[in-house]
Amino acid sequence: MIRGWCPTAWRPMAAGDGLLVRVRPRLGRLTREQMLGVCDAALAWGSGLIDMTNRANLQIRGVAESNWEPLVAALVALGLVDPDPELEARRAILVAPQWAVGDDTHRIASELEHRLAWLPDLPGKVGFAIDAGEAPVLRDDPADFRVERGASGGLILRADGRDSGAALVPGSEVDALIAFAEWFVASGGRDAGRMARHHAPLPRWAAGAEHPAPPMAQPITRRLPVEAAQGLPFGRIDAETLRKSDAEAMRTTPWRIVIFEGVTHATATGVRLDADACVGAPACPQASVETRALAIRLAPLIDGRLHVSGCAKGCARAAPADVVLTGRDGRYDLAFAARAGSVPTIPGLDAAQLLTYFGTA
Ligand code: SF4
Repeated sequence: MIRGWCPTAWRPMAAGDGLLVRVRPRLGRLTREQMLGVCDAALAWGSGLIDMTNRANLQIRGVAESNWEPLVAALVALGLVDPDPELEARRAILVAPQWAVGDDTHRIASELEHRLAWLPDLPGKVGFAIDAGEAPVLRDDPADFRVERGASGGLILRADGRDSGAALVPGSEVDALIAFAEWFVASGGRDAGRMARHHAPLPRWAAGAEHPAPPMAQPITRRLPVEAAQGLPFGRIDAETLRKSDAEAMRTTPWRIVIFEGVTHATATGVRLDADACVGAPACPQASVETRALAIRLAPLIDGRLHVSGCAKGCARAAPADVVLTGRDGRYDLAFAARAGSVPTIPGLDAAQLLTYFGTA
């Protein structure tokens, strides 16, 4: 089932292991108190497992219905969830994680957080990317309305799905984002659901010809100060482990990497960053197959990026991967250079057949 909404703390999603309660840290950053508070909350009212999503949010897993209310109250007290459910639902803001206080990304994202009440009601998956560092880092990450560095060095407003955008007057960025969201609704965007699927002609003020600056070079580790970045296998961390960190603060990213402030080295070992896999069965009711154990076995056999998805929704990775396995009726459909749910090259394989296909029995 493809769902058209994103869970929030106020509207949790039921999964096979209990409710998923989503936390959207402001500007993708948790203070030490908030980081420890999330850990304590996940241990007290959830299973102790925390996932980081491809929108740089956290998800506390395994929450019993009777525990949801005290958990949300604790998150509100920590300043991680807005007490107003409507404003919380609008906080779909992806922020380039390298921001520094006072820079363009920090300034624009902070203003947008303060002006959420100005936004119209948008479909649940529609969101914003504030990517105003020296070069874009969020181009492959999910967002509908983007403020990013343009090729000329200034900031541009760009609709997802369009190659170019309109130059922005400094200081007007949030006004432009709000106007863009209003145009989206007024022009029928709710029916399309996402900006990339909304083919109405853009208003003249948003239809510029300036291309984004070249993205910051790969690999991922060059995007971040590597000594402070730690990869999370499949984006998951357990609260007991996180609680032991001596970091002063923590930033989330959409890349299954967490950045710890005030520490000088990463502490995880054996981290895989070249495979994506959602939680799969049995944790997700949409999944008919296991995902992560298979991904761990297959990833070393595959040249390139692997994506194992429990169903066609493809939660773990929106972009294409070199090898994609999509669960269907208890078996895996195999495709290449594709997204989850693409027409398979070889349909209906089981795990043993896949291991044989890629070179081991
Ligand atoms: S992609 Fe995975 S996590 Fe997402 S709905 Fe499908 S099975 Fe569940």
